[in-house]
Amino acid sequence: MRWNWIPLLLTVPLGSSLANAQSVRIGVLGIFHPHQLTLSACGAEAIVVTASGQTFFLQPGSPTERLQIRASGDILLLSLAGKEIRTSKLHAAGRNQDAVNFVLDVPGKLERRYRGTLDVKIVDGVLVPVITMDLETAVASVVQAESLPGTPFEVLKAQAVVTRSYFVAGAGRHVEFDFCDLTHCQFLREAPRPGSPAARAAEATRDLIITFDDKPVAAMFTRSCGGHTLTPADIGISSGGYPYFSVLCDFCYKNPVRWSRRVTSKDAVVLSDHHEAGRLAVDRRLGWNAVPSNNFKEQKSGTEFILEGVGQGHGVGLCQRGARAMAEEGAGFHEIIDHYFPNTSFGHVVPHTPLAHRN
Ligand SMILES: [Zn+2]
Ligand SMILES: [Zn+2]
Repeated sequence: MRWNWIPLLLTVPLGSSLANAQSVRIGVLGIFHPHQLTLSACGAEAIVVTASGQTFFLQPGSPTERLQIRASGDILLLSLAGKEIRTSKLHAAGRNQDAVNFVLDVPGKLERRYRGTLDVKIVDGVLVPVITMDLETAVASVVQAESLPGTPFEVLKAQAVVTRSYFVAGAGRHVEFDFCDLTHCQFLREAPRPGSPAARAAEATRDLIITFDDKPVAAMFTRSCGGHTLTPADIGISSGGYPYFSVLCDFCYKNPVRWSRRVTSKDAVVLSDHHEAGRLAVDRRLGWNAVPSNNFKEQKSGTEFILEGVGQGHGVGLCQRGARAMAEEGAGFHEIIDHYFPNTSFGHVVPHTPLAHRN
């Protein structure tokens, strides 16, 4: 039997958990499968780009200093002010390898502002931009992207704690980076402006995470649960350490979001086990929200099936709609998290300390 090595554990402050994530690696803009990107500076600082053994600077405020990045087979073609470089990968950061403000533009689609360092490589002929971002910037960005306008502040705080816990505990969902910027992981666009509710919610809960058995929980959330939350086992996914519990969500129970869909008998077979994999497979083919949740009853109707369901999303963890109702009745974020994540505690992200002195 393995035993805990006490002197090592004593280096951890009491009441905290062993979580060392201070930054997160997020693959962005993958939904566009980009073959072309433009990188430019948008703050006061210059961007230092290194590629193929060469270093060059992108100065802020200069329209000629936009770096074009194109995919050509398995090569990146960089062009800047008439000069071209062929490379396999690119790294961009501030002057001392610090985080820097930059804009990534997918020509003809959109542009987004980020703060962090950037790596771009090419995988299967497609550009893969990966941003290494401060954890708190990532948390604030997700709170902003995942919350509806007018969400009570205590719900934003609960969302920030859930999001941070997920980032700390849930790394490794992808090969080239830890998290994507879609709802597959957590939806993330730009960082909110300082002083906005999302930024304040992240600040007010800085470093706070949900723990179970002294380990961070990869906490999940859903838009509305339909009356009871589900467990990962209910929808055929791994619980990742925390078992979850099906909890009563009073507001959704009394006012469930109901939906109805007609699907082919072939899709009904894919959906028959009510697992998340089947729902996502059908959604990927028919479009987002084709099957809003895993909580439904099916009934044959001619050659097709009618699904009558409740809830929106996978149904596991924090219910955003129920949390909102709880906050409107006076619950604080601690209470909201205790309700949706029974038997958990709160812990803190601790700074990384090298585990060097074992003797
Ligand atoms: Zn993902
Ligand atoms: Zn609910």
